[in-house]
Amino acid sequence: MSTFEDFKIKKQLLSAIAELGFEKPTPIQEASYSTILAGRDFVGIAQTGTGKTIAYLLPILQDLKFSDQPQPRVLILVPTRELVIQIVKEIEKLTPYINLRVTGVYGGTNINTQKKAVAEGLDIIVGTPRRLYDLALTNVLRLNSIKKLVIDEVDIMLDFGYKTQLKNIFDHLPEKRQTILFSATMTTYVDEMIDGFLVNPIKETISISGTPLDSIRQESYAVPNFYTKVNLLNHLLKDKAVYGNVLIFVATKVNADRLAETLDFKHEISVIHSSKEQNHRTHSIQKFVDGTSRILIATDVIARGIDIEKIAAVISFDTPLYPENYIHRIGRTGRAGQEGRSILLYNEKEVALKQDIERLMQYDIPLSPFPEEVKMSSQLTPEEKPKPLVPEEPSAKDAKSQVGASFHEKSAKNSKVKAEKKSYKTILKERYKKPLRRGDKIQNMKKKKK
Ligand code: AMP
Repeated sequence: MSTFEDFKIKKQLLSAIAELGFEKPTPIQEASYSTILAGRDFVGIAQTGTGKTIAYLLPILQDLKFSDQPQPRVLILVPTRELVIQIVKEIEKLTPYINLRVTGVYGGTNINTQKKAVAEGLDIIVGTPRRLYDLALTNVLRLNSIKKLVIDEVDIMLDFGYKTQLKNIFDHLPEKRQTILFSATMTTYVDEMIDGFLVNPIKETISISGTPLDSIRQESYAVPNFYTKVNLLNHLLKDKAVYGNVLIFVATKVNADRLAETLDFKHEISVIHSSKEQNHRTHSIQKFVDGTSRILIATDVIARGIDIEKIAAVISFDTPLYPENYIHRIGRTGRAGQEGRSILLYNEKEVALKQDIERLMQYDIPLSPFPEEVKMSSQLTPEEKPKPLVPEEPSAKDAKSQVGASFHEKSAKNSKVKAEKKSYKTILKERYKKPLRRGDKIQNMKKKKK
């Protein structure tokens, strides 16, 4: 365990830290300081509350030399106005003994006032993507002097639909720069962003400790498809004594809306995801909190920013792609001495994801038998329908065989199924059972001999 003195940071910063009452660096601060200071691209997977803001501010402030150049050298992008204000405040608290110019910019306020602040000269600019880009277009703000870019809460940023704005901002930034991303969870978008805009980043994950296993009764059901999952939920949620209030997590906005439309109990359901208006979201949450709606359907990222606890049951309708998300999800139930309940529904493609979760928790989620009275559905959502690789539609018979009950038998045995993408060559090979290349032929022969 290191101390802030071990970081060899400048006196002015050390004094500020001491005055803030910070005794030692948090794990994410320890993990990121020297990498960020060395100028490497960096990805930090850490939640709010881990000290992640100071984790990137400290090495940035340590490295920033005095300058009176007018255009900023550090750009910090965050998803909300509240975060802009908070980060500017943290910077100010860290720099009472350093000569540093910082300003925060965000929408919903007069752009001309912000233009004036930018024109006075800046070292660090903190902003939300849209307003930041609008300012860059006016030419009052020039982004070609940016040496360090931080994108904080990347997952929320992408869930709020800021992808295009971020891309536009990237186009205005110098290629030679340091890029630092922070996100509470990994999502496919975050992955894409890392691939697209970072160079050999160092990645640090602050894993969640203290899984609240003891107070949460976890179970899982093997369910082959969306509509059978709906049938099962309709069956379970009838028991209002057990399912007094329920938070249902889904992987996508499409699934959130589809589930809300298909489930019974229409008048008891609220839905929140990032495409819903802020007003709608606030209203939905309020209804859930005051008990007007018993069931809240949400996507992971949108639910995280919301303070809802003490929920009787958390249902993972879709198995999360990243195991940390499962821990976030179930942490919503079983608080304050009550026993919580977590139910995970998984289909054949989600088996490997479930195993990732179990590995992270070092706990196998007990499998509950699929209730006999619940009907299996053979109906598939457009996403579940098999995608033709060759330009021919699969026959109805093929589609039906995908739904089959055989999965149940396999799942019951907890078999390992890997959802893998097959190459076109492999598919042809499997279909025609012929070797495609000389090497394949030799391999096949060897196999036969065994
Ligand atoms: P964050 O995760 O950046 O939202 O920070 C959460 C809170 O922890 C903030 O109030 C910080 O001021 C505080 N904090 C950050 N670093 C430390 C530290 N090393 N020791 C104690 N508190 C800290």
